[in-house]
Amino acid sequence: MNKQISIIVPIYNEEESIKNVIPKLIKFISGINIDYEIITVNDGSKDNSLAELKKIEGIKIIDHKKNRGYGASLKTGIKNSKYDWIMIIDADETYPVEAIPELVKNMDGYDLIVGSREKRGNAIPLERRHAKQFLNRFASYLAGKNIPDLNSGLRIFRKDIVFKYWPLFPQRFSFTSTLTMICATRGYETIFVPIDYHKRAGKSSIKAVDFFNFLKLICKLSLFFKPLKVFAPLSLLFLMLAIIAPTLYVAGVVNRFYDTTFVVLVAVAIQTFFFGLLAEIIVHNK
Ligand code: UDP
Ligand code: MG
Repeated sequence: MNKQISIIVPIYNEEESIKNVIPKLIKFISGINIDYEIITVNDGSKDNSLAELKKIEGIKIIDHKKNRGYGASLKTGIKNSKYDWIMIIDADETYPVEAIPELVKNMDGYDLIVGSREKRGNAIPLERRHAKQFLNRFASYLAGKNIPDLNSGLRIFRKDIVFKYWPLFPQRFSFTSTLTMICATRGYETIFVPIDYHKRAGKSSIKAVDFFNFLKLICKLSLFFKPLKVFAPLSLLFLMLAIIAPTLYVAGVVNRFYDTTFVVLVAVAIQTFFFGLLAEIIVHNK
């Protein structure tokens, strides 16, 4: 039996690239042996994206009247899909459709197949690269396994995983990070298949280094998936600070020592640890 995949393309102001991306996708995908449907979600675009979509035959078009965000587009697409496997791809010509057969091949034996932008010379904008690298490392540390590309937007996955953790998935940008972390920490098999990555056509709708979103994602990843991995070392840090103060005093390096400082630091260390422990228990019982 053929493999069956629902392909979801989220679209926000992509009038220029739609006429390239979608036909190219159709041409390529119909050349390999799978059953598929293509679901485009127009996410309240302010340009002519919707009109451009309507010119293309053989695709399903869902229209958000207002802009709701990347995650929301994917969730709408998933709700309206008919197959058990989902593939997502951006509409901005960054991901190579040529990589799809290689991803499809890996559907046997894996729950999540990520097109991983780890090849040299990839077109990830420089100002984003460091933030991305940090996120990949941080996620790898939390999960205890290598995650070379946390948030690639080209991937294939089992739909039931998303339904199972539905409320965890955000309306805006960290849909892909969330899915990667769920799979990495909940025993789903994930494979990262190296792919090329091209320069974007048109403008990205997220700010390059949105520091606030970056912090939000860091907090979310640690709190939702492996809290103790962050809170235990933090607690240890407070404990060490508590010990350093009196040690310096005894060693004669400083000539004053406040015992309240010691008490406060120890208390903070204990609280931090138990906060992490509580979070860990909640995460594991969800
Ligand atoms: N997108 C969307 N709703 C939004 C913002 C973006 O559906 O509010 C779409 C966008 O058209 C693209 C994909 O989601 O196909 C990813 O967005 P983008 O390429 O801007 O993000 P990046 O790849 O730069 O992280
Ligand atoms: Mg993109």
